[in-house]
Amino acid sequence: MAASRIGHDYLALADCQESVVWHALQRGLDASCFVSWQWQINHQIRTVQQAQEYVDLRCDEVEGFEKNQDVFEVGITPYYGLLAGIANDDAIRVQAFPSSLEWSDPHGLDDPLVEKHQSPVPEVVHIYPDRVAFCVAQLCPVYCRYCFRKRRDNEVGLHFRKDILDRGIAYIASQKSIRDVLITGGDPFLASDTALEGLLKRLRAIKHVEIIRFGTRTPVTLPYRITPQLTGMLASYHPIWLNTHFNCAAELTVDARQSLNLLTAAGIPVGNQSVLLRGVNDSTEKMKELCLALIRSRVRPYYVFHAHLVKGTQHLRVSVSEGIAIMKALRSTISGFATPLYILDTPSGKIPLMDNPILGIDGNDVLVEDRHGEVWREKDAWRPLPA
Ligand SMILES: *Cc1c(COP(=O)(O)O)cnc(C)c1O
Ligand code: SF4
Repeated sequence: MAASRIGHDYLALADCQESVVWHALQRGLDASCFVSWQWQINHQIRTVQQAQEYVDLRCDEVEGFEKNQDVFEVGITPYYGLLAGIANDDAIRVQAFPSSLEWSDPHGLDDPLVEKHQSPVPEVVHIYPDRVAFCVAQLCPVYCRYCFRKRRDNEVGLHFRKDILDRGIAYIASQKSIRDVLITGGDPFLASDTALEGLLKRLRAIKHVEIIRFGTRTPVTLPYRITPQLTGMLASYHPIWLNTHFNCAAELTVDARQSLNLLTAAGIPVGNQSVLLRGVNDSTEKMKELCLALIRSRVRPYYVFHAHLVKGTQHLRVSVSEGIAIMKALRSTISGFATPLYILDTPSGKIPLMDNPILGIDGNDVLVEDRHGEVWREKDAWRPLPA
């Protein structure tokens, strides 16, 4: 029966002591419930009491849960909550658990990207000629404390609403230059396979749309959402690309790796977009561990975003100069395709941040700095003399 097959692959992990399902069993939870993504969403952690069913909270974390709801919505899947307790540092906790530090951020802004003013229709962000971000979802499996789309909290009822989908699709259909549609949110995978297929069918009916890609954090925060049924359906609308959002190596659990394997086995290229965060991935060593774990799962590290001045995130932000130094040191230690670009997202688009290796021009020579910090003199191509 199809229904019993859905969780089957993840259920088989219950024997594996490294899986989160195994830990759920140790806590007396029912493994077949635990691997159901609907169960995970219906049991999203929102209060101290719910959190304590999965993880032992410290005093400051209890305070964060109790006082935080009004700064930014709280919601954590039991999967991610349990992982927070298993992990041997705080990298998972600081991403998901509300903190009392959130309401003492003097510099944070509501909408640092000013996306509101970039949108021809509210749900389609169109800043590049050939591609758009189409926001169809409002809900997420885990509300990341640093999320830059926090303002969507106010857009109640956005999640897969029919009139909004209609308006976005009409806009995309009307603009022949749009070749690539990025379906995002919120998390677009918090919808049924049927709803997702309906959306794909309508986008595929638009001749000029060649590439459809998804932005989803489900492989990280709700891997059980990625089922053979879902990936089989997606594969029938190829070319489908997907970007996910791992921030530290500890998130690449056996469960998460299984979800990635289902995606890549269906021929979906998977990329990763991280956010540079204090205490999560703010050193070359941690970033390297993350990138190497990703490529072992055939996930291409794509972007590392500089954390915006989002309200309530001061304790998580890292400076641009630290970011550049981390990325510079990373580049020379791991494979080129394992190295993401460090990106500053601005209202007019994404800007790569990197140290400049060009030291100067000397006559017809270009002087560059090599990876040991030494000067390399490159003879440039001769420019034709002006006529
Ligand atoms: C990030 C983004 C895209 C996609 O950009 P790529 O660099 O192609 O990944 C498209 N539209 C908007 C509004 C974006 O923010
Ligand atoms: S999954 Fe993405 S959209 Fe959702 S809260 Fe996290 S960063 Fe924000």
